[in-house]
Amino acid sequence: MKVASIFSLVAALLIAGCSQHRQNADLVIHGGPIFSAQANNKIYQAMAIKDGKIVSVGDEQLVRQVKARQTIDLKGRFAMPGFNDAHSHIRGRAKRYIDLSEVTSIAELQARVSNKIAELPAGEWITGYGWSEDRLAEKRKPTRIDLDSAAPDNPVFLDREGGHSGVANTKALTLAGLTSSSQDPEGGQLERMADGSLSGIIRENRTIVSSLVPDAEPAEIRADLAKRLNALFSLGITSVTDASTSVDDYRSIWRPLYANAAQPLPRATVQINPDLVHRGPQGAIAELAALGAVTGGGNEFLRIGAVKVFVDGGFTGPAAWTTKGYRNDSDYHGAAAVDLQALEIFSARAHIAGWQLGYHAIGDLAIKRTVEMFDRILTANPRDNHRHHVNHFSVLPDDPSLKTMARQQIGIIQQPNFTFSLEGRYRTYLPDDALAHNNAVATPLRNGIKMAFSSDIIPIDPRVGVYAAVTRAGISGAIYGPDEAIDVALALRLYTAGGAWMNFREKEVGEISPGMAADIIIIDRNLLALAPKDILDAKVDMTFIGGKIVFDRAKQGPSGSYRR
Ligand SMILES: [Zn+2]
Repeated sequence: MKVASIFSLVAALLIAGCSQHRQNADLVIHGGPIFSAQANNKIYQAMAIKDGKIVSVGDEQLVRQVKARQTIDLKGRFAMPGFNDAHSHIRGRAKRYIDLSEVTSIAELQARVSNKIAELPAGEWITGYGWSEDRLAEKRKPTRIDLDSAAPDNPVFLDREGGHSGVANTKALTLAGLTSSSQDPEGGQLERMADGSLSGIIRENRTIVSSLVPDAEPAEIRADLAKRLNALFSLGITSVTDASTSVDDYRSIWRPLYANAAQPLPRATVQINPDLVHRGPQGAIAELAALGAVTGGGNEFLRIGAVKVFVDGGFTGPAAWTTKGYRNDSDYHGAAAVDLQALEIFSARAHIAGWQLGYHAIGDLAIKRTVEMFDRILTANPRDNHRHHVNHFSVLPDDPSLKTMARQQIGIIQQPNFTFSLEGRYRTYLPDDALAHNNAVATPLRNGIKMAFSSDIIPIDPRVGVYAAVTRAGISGAIYGPDEAIDVALALRLYTAGGAWMNFREKEVGEISPGMAADIIIIDRNLLALAPKDILDAKVDMTFIGGKIVFDRAKQGPSGSYRR
């Protein structure tokens, strides 16, 4: 940093001394606050970009010192590095799939099914996920009769939110051989109507129907994934981590997609999620070895990140592993989601093989056990710059855990937005102290622990995380543990440079500094000068990847000019 700033100072003096030799650039952005996301929170007024990288930064003088092919005047708007969502879940879906998470009536659900039928060849299966009777105006579950009226000739199977039940239409039930005289399948339950006939709802084990759905073609999944990744630019996200990619998906979906992308995509890091629970330590290590690469493999656009294992569940289950009992059931503590001995054998070997470890731990006991295990592994086999971390960190662990994390440099990929969007669950499940410190930010930072921000797609919008980190507000407006709040500049830094560091990309992206890739966003208002409540209304006007425009709100979509 020092060397770079001395260099740019010298360069600026030289340029000022002989103004006929102006520096060439592809693009100059000026005329508004440019938040650097550097540790010193430096704000510039202008920057120059050449060959995809930021080449100089400074004040308005820079505009006269640089000869640029294109100039963008911010006119007071705000520029910053693109957001880096360091823990997200982006999946490509089959064409037959319908997202039902925002459906508010059975009529709307039927309309979605009808629309999907029109897009597909005759008689195709239709699947979907995310309905909940709690959100439906009718306040009841949909039945096969509801689905039959929309889809008399296509088999339909729609999973409820949470994934513990689903509803099938008559066609799907018939294909599965299910009738009113059928017995419950093993591990599953067929709900019935008053007359004893099947309602279409199947609880728990639903493979009797779901196994009939044909697999989607990888090309179909890739096309949908590309669309979803490209859509992140409108939210200002230029780097994203998929937090549980299987080795198979990396090979058949992610790698071919990034090798042949027809449209601009964000920089992606995939955390590899081996099947430790079913395959055991040997099998999981073999799965990783078959990849032929460890953390850091890949290229500047698609990179292999940490290995990811689920140490516990979450509060949507609820299955977070906690020291104290839950508020609504003081005898319930959740549990580990994996055999801890198997986990330690696996983790030590992955660590020695050079993997970064980034484990899912939500309850404080899951975090504590994970940290103790990382400590033992790092003590036995010290490694500089390992950047092992805990994904989540919803319930603040005890002080010794925080101290160990600081000492062993174990980081946190935090979701500040959970305080906002999961408020209802926390109020039900968390005792007072855990509620006040839910998804703590200031306490771990004060302890010297490295942190990156992310969304876990609940929702994926970075504005929610920044807003919640600054206000500690739940969706109701109630405030939780205001001592965990941080200021906007730090929240933005954790949502940009924070993720870059956690993914070993801090020399490439995450700051507005000379030498960094020009992954930049322009926001319609100055985030550092807003009332916190207005953060949620800020809009991304433009998004750049490597200096190329990939989203322009004025044109309502990505420009076609981008080429990687
Ligand atoms: Zn996740």
